[in-house]
Amino acid sequence: MSATMQQDFGDQPIERRETDNYRSEYVKSFVDKWDDLIDWDSRARSEGDFFIQVLKDRGARRVLDVAAGTGFHSVQLIEAGFDVVSADGSPEMLAKAFENARRRGHIMRTTQADWRWLNRDIYGRYDAVVCLGNSFTHLFNENDRRKALAEFYSALNHDGVLILDQRNYDAILDHGYSSSHTYYYCGDNVSVAPEHVDEGLARFEYRFPDKSTYHLNMFPLRKAYVRRLMREVGFQNIDTYGDFKETYREHEPDFFIHVADKH
Ligand code: SAM
Repeated sequence: MSATMQQDFGDQPIERRETDNYRSEYVKSFVDKWDDLIDWDSRARSEGDFFIQVLKDRGARRVLDVAAGTGFHSVQLIEAGFDVVSADGSPEMLAKAFENARRRGHIMRTTQADWRWLNRDIYGRYDAVVCLGNSFTHLFNENDRRKALAEFYSALNHDGVLILDQRNYDAILDHGYSSSHTYYYCGDNVSVAPEHVDEGLARFEYRFPDKSTYHLNMFPLRKAYVRRLMREVGFQNIDTYGDFKETYREHEPDFFIHVADKH
């Protein structure tokens, strides 16, 4: 595991708009704090069994979590009885996920894989691919987004399903930031807020109780744009939920969750 403790965005942090940023953003000290930021118990309470229900309704068994992070969804899905493989491009994240799973009595199957070349590193086909926790936002150019979606598509069985979520960036871009932090960032005493937002960058600051701060540079995905890309890559029947609900006012949800069929 890399022992890097400091993030380094250089002199012009808002110029850092590259897909590869994620490799240096999730430094060890940030990853170690990540679980304070996304307190597992309150997160589990706010999400309920939404993902488990969507997967069960489709008869999914084999699930590939492509953005395992520290392992929250992978562990939830293992505990719900799914056959889960956990992938992530960050070895720090995977190490943390494995450790978190082991503490809960599970041996997590992990694979380090960048989405752009996913099928080089994973084996077989899956009934579902999940890409959760506002992860797809890390891709900074359209080619990478198309490539990643195409890789998710081909990792699926013919009747497979993709579940991919994102922050409601339309609301942030059009109306400003007003998250109640109910769904994902529910750790106590951790503040999460955008530091800079334009059509090509959402730079968020994460401030922890010990006064340490970290940043993530992300691409502000508009909802209609993501749905169009998914459709163009071949996904069908794309349903988009707002904070886990089928009906919502466009600017109200913090997060959108896209559920799309391969065929
Ligand atoms: N799903 C987890 C959660 O909800 O807690 C983690 C979310 S975290 C915001 C985003 C994750 O996506 C990180 O673990 C990061 O390493 C991973 N990631 C970002 N870009 C990636 C890429 N191109 N390929 C593979 N993993 C990537």
